[in-house]
Amino acid sequence: MRPEILNPLFGETQSLKGVGKVLAKPLEKLRLTRVKDLLYHKPSYWMRRKRVHELDIADIGLTIIAEVTPVDYRSGGPRSPFRVQATDAKGNYISLTFFGRNTGWTRKLLPLGESKIITGKLERYGDELQMLHPDVLEVAEESEIALVEPIYPLSDGLGNKRMRQLIAQSLELAPHLPEWIEPSLLKSKQWNEWRQTIVALHNDEDASNSDRLAYDEIFANQLAFMLVRASNRQKNGISIQGDGHLRDQIKLPFELTGAQKRCISEIEGDLAQSSPMLRLLQGDVGSGKTLVALMALLNAVEAGYQGAFLAPTEILARQHFEGLQKLLSGLPVNIDILTGRDKGKMRESTLMGLADGSIDILVGTHAIFQEKVRYKKLAVAVIDEQHKFGVSQRLMLTRKAESTPHLLAMTATPIPRTLTLSQYGEMDVSRIDELPPGRQTIETRVISDSRLPEVVEGLGRHIAGGGQAYWVCPLVEESEKSDLAAAEERAAALKLRFGDQVGLVHGRMKGPEKDAVMEKFQRGAIRLLVATTVIEVGVDVPNASLMIIEAADRFGLAQLHQLRGRVGRGDVKSNCLLLRGDTLSETARARLSLLRETNDGFKIAEEDLRLRGAGELLGTRQSGDAGFRIATPEQITQFIAAATDDARLLLDRDGGLKGERGQAARIALYLFEKDWGVSLIRSG
Ligand code: ADP
Ligand code: MG
Repeated sequence: MRPEILNPLFGETQSLKGVGKVLAKPLEKLRLTRVKDLLYHKPSYWMRRKRVHELDIADIGLTIIAEVTPVDYRSGGPRSPFRVQATDAKGNYISLTFFGRNTGWTRKLLPLGESKIITGKLERYGDELQMLHPDVLEVAEESEIALVEPIYPLSDGLGNKRMRQLIAQSLELAPHLPEWIEPSLLKSKQWNEWRQTIVALHNDEDASNSDRLAYDEIFANQLAFMLVRASNRQKNGISIQGDGHLRDQIKLPFELTGAQKRCISEIEGDLAQSSPMLRLLQGDVGSGKTLVALMALLNAVEAGYQGAFLAPTEILARQHFEGLQKLLSGLPVNIDILTGRDKGKMRESTLMGLADGSIDILVGTHAIFQEKVRYKKLAVAVIDEQHKFGVSQRLMLTRKAESTPHLLAMTATPIPRTLTLSQYGEMDVSRIDELPPGRQTIETRVISDSRLPEVVEGLGRHIAGGGQAYWVCPLVEESEKSDLAAAEERAAALKLRFGDQVGLVHGRMKGPEKDAVMEKFQRGAIRLLVATTVIEVGVDVPNASLMIIEAADRFGLAQLHQLRGRVGRGDVKSNCLLLRGDTLSETARARLSLLRETNDGFKIAEEDLRLRGAGELLGTRQSGDAGFRIATPEQITQFIAAATDDARLLLDRDGGLKGERGQAARIALYLFEKDWGVSLIRSG
């Protein structure tokens, strides 16, 4: 149970003074539903205002406070703004300009001849000084204006003034919390205790003060991961050492790469242990993760156990099933598939086969870990495209069996080491850092979207020559709807030219509908697949050798790299065209040209981290519970190593989190809602 000391922080913002129905909505929208959310609501910037006694062009660009007297009104045509001419004490003029406002209202606000205090940004308009939509106060009210003021992220109906009041109320509720940070670290960083720091966050422009708040979050995150590791070590797993009789029969037309061999032996090492494996397999698109997974699954089957292979989507589940079936043909291995769509008799018989152990390997979507699905002796679970799952989902998964199965998670997102630690800190990591030899390189070009007609011409030649292609439509932030509209529009335009050869897939399509299109594309009935990013993960169509990505500058580099990985899977040379807008920042340019220069996903990830900071890599819409709300990507990079070491050390000394610092650390876990982490603390 959550420690009592935290209760005020988890109180609802609804119960604060002055929060009625009207504020509920904006608070919700800003995800400020609890007092602690308000406390951690960081100012987006600090507004500085300068009190001037004389209007002066030298102050243009600054936000000023001045006392002025309106002397004249100037109302242009219906479409021009309403201007109030005013002067300061020295007789300098300024034009106070109002667009689209009721002029009666403005006249009342600024009566001629009456001195007022105005605040706003000083601008130049022709030869005049002007201020757009100034804040206007009575002279007596001047003292209410802060010279330095935190400005918060706001929402309709919740202005900065109200926000500050709510935060002030929340600060009064903030308790002193016991210290969970290692004393020597606290000292060397000159950090203050928690309460003092959170107060400073809202009262002191010096941001370095808030570093400890970020550290707290990272520390709690890593501590929760370390608790998963520790509790995993205590669990009963199944030590497996297959004799190789199945693996030896697999006939491959190629040699495994050195990296694949290394990863396989790392996994074998884990499987032989009696505590369950928790391993992340990172490898670029096309690096051959599936085979590595298959070796782990077969190891289990050889030893008389079952394996499960979880894919994030229906399409991928089917593709993996077919691929694995092919590899296993002729071997005495019974492989089956189960997805949410399988109903009735088929489903029943699959469930039976799992329960009686006659099915050796099950491939499928989430359905394979549902309540009703019972395995006779599941020993190895593989999750493909790991990033779609959060930590607690991973935990749920391994709770299925009496003895915890070994878990192998696979991801094609080659994120840098520091970020791997913050996202998958509970796991050991294997990396396939080498592509199979003889891969066609993908030639990548960055092209201005003003050359779209040429691109379509080229596409026409490509299709006429028997090729297939992808066309990825831009990601419109936060709105699946407009993503879709853009994709539909593009598909319609391309259909005018290429007719029925064009297909469209997007995230809103139902499974069967989507699969039908994908299937047509796979067998070549569709030559051009227009898509939103749903094709991002793992679909394999070797004949598709051209990838066109619209508004490429809106995608993350890692994501672009993954998209590009859809081509270059066959024997022909592949091309990737990145269309960009005409106005690109230096960084955007540098980022795109990085893609042109290298095909190495790990290198791209490290470089992107350097160019842009981690934000791009982690994405703003983080899934799962290893998300950070307070720590910025830069802070994560800065503190992750120290926080991980600290968490590990604390658990080494006090695994039950019983000592003084241990108790404080529990509070940190609850504060950051890692309740699942607390539930794993070793008792006794
Ligand atoms: P990913 O890591 O993206 O999941 P896959 O496992 O789908 O990659 O492998 C991509 C392709 O590479 C498959 O067609 C697979 O058969 C092939 N492949 C895997 N390993 C090798 C290898 N060592 N040499 C050549 N081709 C390989
Ligand atoms: Mg794959």
